[in-house]
Amino acid sequence: MAYQFETRCICGDEHRSDRHPFGAISAPIYQSATFSHPGIGESTGYNYTRESNPTRAELEQIVSSMEGAVDTVACSSGMAAISLCLELFQAGDHIICSEDLYGGSVRLFQTTGESRGRLFSYVNTADVQMVEQSITPHTKALYIETPSNPTMQVTDLAQMHRLAEQYHLLLIVDNTFLSPCFQNPIDFGADLVIHSGTKFLGGHNDTLSGFLCTSRKDLAEKIRFLFKTSGAGLSPFDSFLMLRGIKTLAVRMERQQSNALAIAQWLKKQERVSKVFYVGLPDHPGYEVNLKQAKGFGSMISFRTDTEETARRILERVRLISYAESLGGVESLITYPMLQTHGDVPVEVRERLGITETFLRLSVVLEHIDDLIADLEWALS
Ligand SMILES: *Cc1c(COP(=O)(O)O)cnc(C)c1O
Repeated sequence: MAYQFETRCICGDEHRSDRHPFGAISAPIYQSATFSHPGIGESTGYNYTRESNPTRAELEQIVSSMEGAVDTVACSSGMAAISLCLELFQAGDHIICSEDLYGGSVRLFQTTGESRGRLFSYVNTADVQMVEQSITPHTKALYIETPSNPTMQVTDLAQMHRLAEQYHLLLIVDNTFLSPCFQNPIDFGADLVIHSGTKFLGGHNDTLSGFLCTSRKDLAEKIRFLFKTSGAGLSPFDSFLMLRGIKTLAVRMERQQSNALAIAQWLKKQERVSKVFYVGLPDHPGYEVNLKQAKGFGSMISFRTDTEETARRILERVRLISYAESLGGVESLITYPMLQTHGDVPVEVRERLGITETFLRLSVVLEHIDDLIADLEWALS
């Protein structure tokens, strides 16, 4: 019988007591750049760490198990994984993206991506008709974030899969915000799944990493080739830190989500907060669709304040919550997307999406809910 998700976070698809030498329970860190050959033309299975490493391989197997992928490569950051994914496309290929994508992805696509002749459109992928109308004979992929960053729009993955099949497109999903604990895009037809492991998977605000998972053997072969050629691999030590973080993913996600729901409900009642964007609130426009394709809502909240002054005041006054980029670690963080994560997004796009001077994004995590609310209450007072 297949293990449940919580178990797979710890040992992947199967537990083997002979998994590590000397019966070590925790994964050894194989801090070795190279591996000797037992004989001419022979290999232990590992030759050189740029290509593969036993610590990294254990991590990759666990992430594959969590996402239901045939293969996963562990990269040095989320952006390294996204760059690798981009290499699957040629000059002239057109990719349709969710319009409020992670700012770093937009920067990559608009610079390296476009300079090498690839074309990108940014559309509201929550609107299936808009996506279909944007497909051209050159379109090769749909690149989705759901819920999106930072305005929490929800895209219907089953509908995207239907379009991908009909028009022969790859379906790519950046699954960072819900993590495999709450959402498995491969179950809804995704060909490629991306993670910034820096966020929920690592979960401790101490390590950068990224993952590119695929459900297809042919893509896995191409990706393995690009991976060893580009040198995007995660180091053995960071692979160990990721393995350690992932073991507690399921319990962290559950608590973070219950804290986030309480804070979203509290924020809604505040006079100086004019709008709350949280997928777990039943009045969120994507609530039903998210419920259909995910097991949870996650713990990312965005909100709008009455004035710019209020937004700035919150950022300056929070004491427990840190004013910092990133999300999903054990310390709660608040960001000003206009200046930070989305600083490189063109102004007209930002304004259209509502990423303005009154818009804040909050990553609610593991401190006690009373302390978090007290901090926000103080910051708003
Ligand atoms: C942070 C993030 C990335 C980039 O990952 P890094 O690990 O910072 O390189 C990509 N996508 C999303 C949704 C993110 O939040």
